Amino acid sequence: MLEYIGCNLCNQDRTKVIWQEPPYRIVRCQNCGLIYLNPRPEAKELVQLYSREYFTNYYLKNREERIVYFQRRLEEIEEFKKGESLLDIGCGVGFFLKVAQEFGWQSEGVEPSPFAVQFAQNEYRLKVFQGGLKEAHLPPAHFDLVTMWDILCSLPDPMGYLEETFRILKKKGIVVLKVPHRYWAVFLLARFVSHFTMARGILHLPAQIYYFTPRILTKMVEKAGFRVLKIKGADEVITSRYAKGFLKNLAMVSFLKLFKLLGKKESFILYATRQS
Ligand SMILES: [Zn+2]
Repeated sequence: MLEYIGCNLCNQDRTKVIWQEPPYRIVRCQNCGLIYLNPRPEAKELVQLYSREYFTNYYLKNREERIVYFQRRLEEIEEFKKGESLLDIGCGVGFFLKVAQEFGWQSEGVEPSPFAVQFAQNEYRLKVFQGGLKEAHLPPAHFDLVTMWDILCSLPDPMGYLEETFRILKKKGIVVLKVPHRYWAVFLLARFVSHFTMARGILHLPAQIYYFTPRILTKMVEKAGFRVLKIKGADEVITSRYAKGFLKNLAMVSFLKLFKLLGKKESFILYATRQS
C-alpha cells in the first residue's frame, strides 16, 4: 500500500514533481525545498525491506571493508569528542558499535530488524534495542554522541528522530549524520535513465524516501535545536565494488562518473551539537 504525506520539515503540502515513474513520484516542497518520495510505501512495508538477505548481501559480505570504513569515521569524530557514551541509531548488525567499543566508547544501538539485532547480540555481545528510537524510551540528556549512518533518508519521520535525538543527547553532545548527497544533477540523470528503466537503482527506490542536500539537512537539524559544526563530503564504503561488481550496469557507472566529473562526493557527513 502507498501513502501520501505532507512535508516532514515544514508540514505544508505544496509540492512540485521532479521525477516520476508510476507508481512513484519524487517531489520538492515549494515552501522549504525538502525533496521526498510521495506517495511512498507504508512504514511497515519499509521495515520489511531490511531482511536477513539484505544484511547478508550488503553488510556481512563486506564486513572487513565496512569495519575499516567505520574506524576512519570514528577517528574523525574523535577530533571533536572522545570515548564516552554513544548511541548508534539503525545500527544494523553492529559494525560501528563494535568499532566504537574497541575505541573505548560505552556503546549501544537501536535497530528495527530482528535478524540484525540478534546478530549484533550474539556475534559481538552488543547492547541493542530492537525497534524504533521512541519505543526504546531512552533517558533524557544521556549520550555524548549519537550517530546515524545512512539512516535518515530511509526513515518515515526524520524530523521526529532528530527531535528525539536532541532530547537524549547531553548538553555539548554531538550528533553525526551521514546521508547520500542528492543535488539537482542526480535527478537530471534519473530523468534521463528513466527511459531505460534504470532510475530506481540510482534513486535507491523505494528504500530511500528523503533526498538531502547540505542546505536542507542544515535547516532540519537547526529546527530540531542543533547548531551545525561541520559538513564534509564522504565516499561510500564499497563504491568500487558497486561499479565493477554485482550492480554492474550503465546507469550506476554513469552515476559514479557524474559525481567525479562534478567534483562531488556521493555522500556527506554533518556534525551538529546540542548547545543547551
Ligand atoms: Zn516543506
